[in-house]
Amino acid sequence: MGKALLQKIWDLHTVRQLPTGQTQLFIGLHLVHEVTSPQAFDMLRVRGSRVLFPGRTFATVDHIVPTLDQRRPFLDPLAEEMIASLERNCREQDIPLYSLDSGRQGIVHVIGPELGLTQPGLTIACGDSHTSTHGAFGAIAFGVGTSQVRDVLASQCLAIEPIKTRRIRVTGALRHGVFAKDVILEIIRRLGVKGGAGYAYEYAGEVLDRMTMDERMTVCNMSIEGGARVGYVNPDETTFAYLEGRPFAPRGDAFERARAWWTSMASDRDARYDDDVVLEGEGIEPTVTWGINPGQSVGISQRIPAPADAPAGEEAGIAEALEFMGFRSGQPIEGTRIDVAFIGSCTNSRLSDLRVAARVAKGRRVAPHVKALVVPGSQAIRIAAEREGLDQIFAAAGFEWRGAGCSMCLAMNPDRLEGRQVCASSSNRNFKGRQGSPTGRTLLMSPAMVAAAALAGEVVDVRKVLEPEVA
Ligand code: SF4
Repeated sequence: MGKALLQKIWDLHTVRQLPTGQTQLFIGLHLVHEVTSPQAFDMLRVRGSRVLFPGRTFATVDHIVPTLDQRRPFLDPLAEEMIASLERNCREQDIPLYSLDSGRQGIVHVIGPELGLTQPGLTIACGDSHTSTHGAFGAIAFGVGTSQVRDVLASQCLAIEPIKTRRIRVTGALRHGVFAKDVILEIIRRLGVKGGAGYAYEYAGEVLDRMTMDERMTVCNMSIEGGARVGYVNPDETTFAYLEGRPFAPRGDAFERARAWWTSMASDRDARYDDDVVLEGEGIEPTVTWGINPGQSVGISQRIPAPADAPAGEEAGIAEALEFMGFRSGQPIEGTRIDVAFIGSCTNSRLSDLRVAARVAKGRRVAPHVKALVVPGSQAIRIAAEREGLDQIFAAAGFEWRGAGCSMCLAMNPDRLEGRQVCASSSNRNFKGRQGSPTGRTLLMSPAMVAAAALAGEVVDVRKVLEPEVA
């Protein structure tokens, strides 16, 4: 019986079994940012310890960094304090920091892959829930809390519960106007926001095989929203082509040796899975969340459900979501008026996301009542987009073009909803209050759908405005 990638990486990184039933795993790469690290570094300082493997630790600033006025000191004293603290900690502990003046700053889950730090076969930890993004490369990547950030800084290890493996195969092909975001929203809708508890999600099938690395990152990013501990795609030629030439990727003969090892880490054909799920790609349509968790979504042609339509035990959750969002059961999602459009976050702020949004926006205008933001995931993406003139397309259409950061994904900076505003968002969480206003409402969708909604001033089917790409 062969092994799945999860088991191979797990076995290779096991330090020992703990009496708690957990496994102590060695962590190959630790990514650090300004918000979940200050206390962890303080705890280390109190114990008189140093970071055990500074060479396996890399930092950037993303969560609280302003995307508009980035002059120092920042207008927000908390942002200034957090970022100054990270700068001091990195200096003291010899940790490389991709700061605002590095030309490489950006969202931690965007710059890790961009720099070639994220590689197949690695165990990765970061103090952010969406660390599962890195699984797109065939890595096992854990989102952790502040005390675990401290543990990794001090010991380069994590104690992890046993994890089962569920393979999710998406077969066939996606239709025009359907994107990776729609695939993961559909998976979460089918399996539920708690359906992945205790599992790693291995994404496979023809649709995943054909996806670019950007698209695979979008899918893996939201594994956590389906309750999975981690999510991954087996490494293949698409992975290797993405990595080749990146600053931290091996070069020359070392790259060829790495490629052979990376290939060997992919799941064996006869690997055993604890569960196997199949979805047909053709059956997925542009998808929009209507509720207060990412599993509460509908296809653009569908109507918002009623509590009575919900599986047993979930009726109250639907009723609560309807009340908070101000929707009626049976109402179509198409035509919902929006106030804000946000294209960004570690789910959908990569160059390919900006390109497709620009295709939608080109030659059109944002509706007068809509505030629309485009926030690139990294400085490198911003520069690449500007080289292609995407910033000009967005500006001409009335979108604001910002500096890199998490921005309105979690609204720790001035990019926030106000009052009951409705936001069409390419981010990953639609929880109450997530975008800064306790009563603000978030509709998750693909970046192309966000761009289309910004122009129309309401939720529309992007297939009506996006011409198919001519090969
Ligand atoms: S964009 Fe959102 S989910 Fe991603 S790292 Fe930033 S805050 Fe976390």
